[in-house]
This record gives sequence, C-alpha cells and structure tokens, in this order.
Amino acid sequence: MITEEDKLIRQPLFAKGCLTFKNSGHTLILDREYYRCSEQVKGNCHHHEEKMIRVKDMVRRFDSLITKFELPEGESGRIFDELLMVMVKEWRKSSQRDMYLEEILVSTGNLIIDQIKKRNEVSKADFLEFKRTFYTLLKNQYEEMLFNYLLDPLFTLNPWPKEQDEMAAFLRKSMGITVQRIRLYFSWHVRKIFLSDDGQIEGIEFENWSWYVMQYLKHHIPAYMNNLKKGFIVNTRRFDTLDFFEVADEFSQNDFRDAMSYSAFATNYAKEKILHKIFDGFEDLKPKAKIEYLKKLDGLTKQSFYAYFATLNRI
Ligand SMILES: [Zn+2]
Repeated sequence: MITEEDKLIRQPLFAKGCLTFKNSGHTLILDREYYRCSEQVKGNCHHHEEKMIRVKDMVRRFDSLITKFELPEGESGRIFDELLMVMVKEWRKSSQRDMYLEEILVSTGNLIIDQIKKRNEVSKADFLEFKRTFYTLLKNQYEEMLFNYLLDPLFTLNPWPKEQDEMAAFLRKSMGITVQRIRLYFSWHVRKIFLSDDGQIEGIEFENWSWYVMQYLKHHIPAYMNNLKKGFIVNTRRFDTLDFFEVADEFSQNDFRDAMSYSAFATNYAKEKILHKIFDGFEDLKPKAKIEYLKKLDGLTKQSFYAYFATLNRI
C-alpha cells in the first residue's frame, strides 16, 4: 500500500553497486560509518590493500567531484528556456496519450467501488484491469521522469543562487512545481564510481540516460567537461540527435531497460515489486478504507505519481 510516509523515505546517496574498487571490481557496502568491500564481509576478498572508507570522506570527495560538473554562470537560463518548450510539448503529448487510459482507470475504479458499496465480492477481472491500467499509466509517465532528469542539472549543478532562484520562482508561479535543489542528487546520474584502493575517485560511469543529459548540456556549453582527464568518464556513446523526444523514443523501445540501471520497469521482478507496493494489503482493508484508497489511486496527479514512484525506484 502507498502511504503518505512513503514520500519521506530517504534514498541512499550511492545506490547499491555504485561504489566499486577499480582494481578488483568489488563493490562497496555501507557498514555503519564506513564503506567497505562487500566481498571482504563474506570472506571472499584477497585484496588486502582495499581500505575501509569513512562515509564522511566519501561524501566530501563526491561533493568536490560535483564541482567539476558545475555549469558556468549565465548558461542555465538559456537551456532552461529551451527545456520549458520541451516540457510543454511533453505534457501535451502525454495527456493525449493517456486520456483513454485515465478514463478506463476511473470507470473501473467506480465499478469496483460500486461492488464494495453493495457488499458484493469485487470482480477479479475488474480489479486486474484496474491494476493493469494503473501500471501502464505509471510506465507511460516514466518519460516525464526522464524529462525531469534532463531538467534537474540546471538546479543541482548550478552554483549560482540568483539563477536558481529565478528559475525556481518561474516554475513555482507558472506551473506550481517546487524544485528541490539538493546538490548531492547528482549521484542519481552516476551508475558507477570507480575507486582506488584507498578510496580516491578515479573514474565514473554515467547512467545511459544521464550520459545523454550530459551531452545535451555539452551541446549548449561546448567547453563543458573539458577539464576532466581523458578516460575519467567511461561512457563513450555519441548521439545522432539530442532531441528529447527522439532519444526518449529510442529508450522506450525496450521499456526503458537501458535508461537508468535502477529503472523500475526493467524486470518482471521490479514490476511485481511496484504492484505489491501499491496493492498489497488492499484486501485486508475495511470497505470504507478500500473505497478511499481506490479514489486516491485514480485521482492521483502526475506529480504525486512521480513522488511515489521516485521513492520506489532506488530502494
Ligand atoms: Zn575486495
């Protein structure tokens, strides 16, 4: 079941499997105040040079890495203006695409509510239809999430408070969107951080979608990322086009399997996990609570979809 508290779940700074010793390929796990080799914990590691790394130190090193990706003064506004146009187009596209599904969701939801009110047994077929439609809508909105990932560097990688404030104020006033600008969220874009045995950052690999995001920024700021050592970033893919819709369409061909490594749609397991999260425990509710929950689900705005979904993503 989705509860209000879900929004408050703290996501780990580094996803499972992100921190990796470069020499051994061993990943690191969190062990109280330290990150340490996950194989060492199991007794399988013979790389005795691998140090335990204080969480505080790792965060500090990552923070200083972010500095290398910060946007130069005055550039964000230009990119922001362009992305606003993309955003409007994306909203139009998704609302046309999802209109029919939303109708099905509401009408099936009402049908089930009716059955509950009349104390009839809820039809299994109707409930399955409701679940399936809900899931499809969720999946469709993944593209909007990817758009948000394209927009967020303008805030997370922007050290200029005045520029940030202007963009945030615009989004708040015109679209009712409150932007969170937490610098360390940059870690969401990084699939792998390669470490020396003593925990210095020696290289990174971006998520595939985030690599597109970086290329998009570089297209607007040609000198972007030029001060990094060759080979520091292991991604090499070049994009024929940087058009959001074309690239998103390409990633959608296989259910966004390659977009972000923690994509919640990539596996059946992930799909089950989402559906469990949303619908487990529903049967045990009292009729009145069942009705309230269904109403909440079919009335969810896209923003709340996103909020719920984002918390499911990385845990
Ligand atoms: Zn190891």
